[in-house]
Amino acid sequence: MALVVQKYGGTSVGSVERIRNVANRIAKTFDAGNEVVVIVSAMSGETNRLVALAAEVTETPSEREYDVLVSTGEQVTIALLSMCLQSMGYNARSYLGSQIPMVTDKVHARARIKRIGDENIREDLENGTIVIVAGFQGTDGEGNITTLGRGGSDTSAVAVAAAMKADVCEIYTDVDGVYTTDPRMVPEARKIEKISYDEMLEMASLGAKVLQIRSVEFAKKYNVVIHVRSSFHDKPGTLVMKEDQDMETVLVSGVAYNKDEAKISIVGVPDQPGISAQIFTPLSDNDITVDMIIQNISHQGATDLTFTVPKGDCKKAVGIIEKVAEKIKARGVRSDTEISKVSIIGVGMRSHAGVASTMFEALSEEGINIQMISTSEIKVSCIVDAKYTELAVRVLHNAFGLDLPEIEEKF
Ligand code: ASP
Ligand code: MG
Repeated sequence: MALVVQKYGGTSVGSVERIRNVANRIAKTFDAGNEVVVIVSAMSGETNRLVALAAEVTETPSEREYDVLVSTGEQVTIALLSMCLQSMGYNARSYLGSQIPMVTDKVHARARIKRIGDENIREDLENGTIVIVAGFQGTDGEGNITTLGRGGSDTSAVAVAAAMKADVCEIYTDVDGVYTTDPRMVPEARKIEKISYDEMLEMASLGAKVLQIRSVEFAKKYNVVIHVRSSFHDKPGTLVMKEDQDMETVLVSGVAYNKDEAKISIVGVPDQPGISAQIFTPLSDNDITVDMIIQNISHQGATDLTFTVPKGDCKKAVGIIEKVAEKIKARGVRSDTEISKVSIIGVGMRSHAGVASTMFEALSEEGINIQMISTSEIKVSCIVDAKYTELAVRVLHNAFGLDLPEIEEKF
């Protein structure tokens, strides 16, 4: 007998009919002799609807009440799903985050899980009950509801799987698995059979939206095998797991892109100790995360500094930087929101030379100018003009042999 944790996302429970499908799948897993714990999201669109309602009432809702509101979507789905299973003759029981309990810190709207009580769940499982848990929500341990940030039910699922030492954590979604790149952009994209935690983390932070980043960090820390798969058919999806030797033989596993960054340059910055701190400290004090940074070689005691920030923070960042520029007597500040970051990712890069140059050549053959470059052990990212995003992703996908082989026509 295995302990299986399953998580169903918003689209998979988006209507009563779909909830019935989910119940059938759960029943099948249970009938096969497994213990089953299920984590569900709110019905698709519901959390957005709740967030919009709050925005109609006030621009600055208290974070405590925001969590009270947005956590209600999941309460609906756990109840409906449990009822559905009961009507099919199964024992099922729903749990809110506070009833498990899933204890988090006190940071509303982006709480972090501290502890999960597993006694209630274990007792139910021993009695042959299917356990249905509300994703996305927890309790601060003092009676307040907390939520884990948008997309947080992935993290709820992995955390429950880790706490229960489950054999597998299946994340059911509306795509077939993790793809080599966005299949809506590149039809030749392929489903990846297995991918390492580190590659998945890079893919997620670079724009692939299949899993919440924190859920992958959690899985890595506790060595939880995640199986990302479709709730609409039975074909296997993608395993997210510890790196193995096969993974290293692949040079590049995926190509990601992110259009959500903006570029800011400060020109004519005096080249003196302490200047970078003066520039970046006020940004971090304002909770603005800086991604790539490049500094040019100084010329006559001055240099240019360019960095990227989330697009939504660009205006605020420019405001802050203009003040700093005046203070440090820089020549000016420029910004550009029409950029995008394209990246290649793969643990195979660690042991192969020439990956970056293949990337640069592929981009140059299409006349795409590279504005900034950053590298890590398993990733190379380039900032390019936003209008070339799709072209860049396509040529890189092809250059690294990721395209689906063309099916030979047979007459
Ligand atoms: N319902 C929440 C959201 O839409 C959590 C989740 O679906 O993972 O962000
Ligand atoms: Mg999701």
